[in-house]
Amino acid sequence: MLGLAALCALVAGHFSRLTAAEKWPEERKLGPFLCHADFSLDGQKKLLGEIESLQQDIAAILGTQEPRENIHLFLFEKPATYEAYLKRYFPRVPARRALYIKGRGPGMVFAHQGTDFEIDVRHESTHALLHASFETVPLWLDEGIAEYFEVPRGKRASENPHLATIRALLRQGASPRLEALEGISDLKDMGRDEYRDAWAWVHFMIHGPRDAHADLITYLKDCQDGGEPEKLSARLRRRVPDLERRMAEHFKP
Ligand SMILES: [Zn+2]
Repeated sequence: MLGLAALCALVAGHFSRLTAAEKWPEERKLGPFLCHADFSLDGQKKLLGEIESLQQDIAAILGTQEPRENIHLFLFEKPATYEAYLKRYFPRVPARRALYIKGRGPGMVFAHQGTDFEIDVRHESTHALLHASFETVPLWLDEGIAEYFEVPRGKRASENPHLATIRALLRQGASPRLEALEGISDLKDMGRDEYRDAWAWVHFMIHGPRDAHADLITYLKDCQDGGEPEKLSARLRRRVPDLERRMAEHFKP
């Protein structure tokens, strides 16, 4: 589930022309996603339904716009086929279990069946939707939002595996970091703790104080317009006094 094994890469290329010409055994349109699979999707109804409604779910919570373009979702039955495919078309992209790649054309998500397949698909598809909607999203927030939406719909609020680790952290008197996350500009610096903290802040802003949710929505709207918006930490600390205490209260069992 952790994004550690996944990668969100921005690459330049003309991949879309190549894929458009290929014919896949399964092709389906799921909202803004054009899904291509090399295996039967008959057993994936639940996941496909979630991907189809992901855009609306994200829009309802974060106020995002309709994506400006379609997103390609490539699903492989076997890891070896997935690896060979990526090696052929994206030889310079580091090998990862699942990928979101954005070049000059539409965004692309790649995943293969196996451990955490559904989590990977939801996680990377969330990145794709965010990047189809916003000019820029800070790395930590991009990952925190993807961690939030990677669990099945009914489990997002109270059954994310990060919940237990955040509660344990808060019990020790520590708190998820915020300003430190904002300083991260390289995915290599996003480790297990950073993913956990990013998720915690996203959960706090979605399910916590109304002012914090409002700050998140305004901040994302400013990201949509491009430029360099005022930091989310500065906005939150102004609007929600005693932020760390409110965070601890928010996650109290
Ligand atoms: Zn990610």
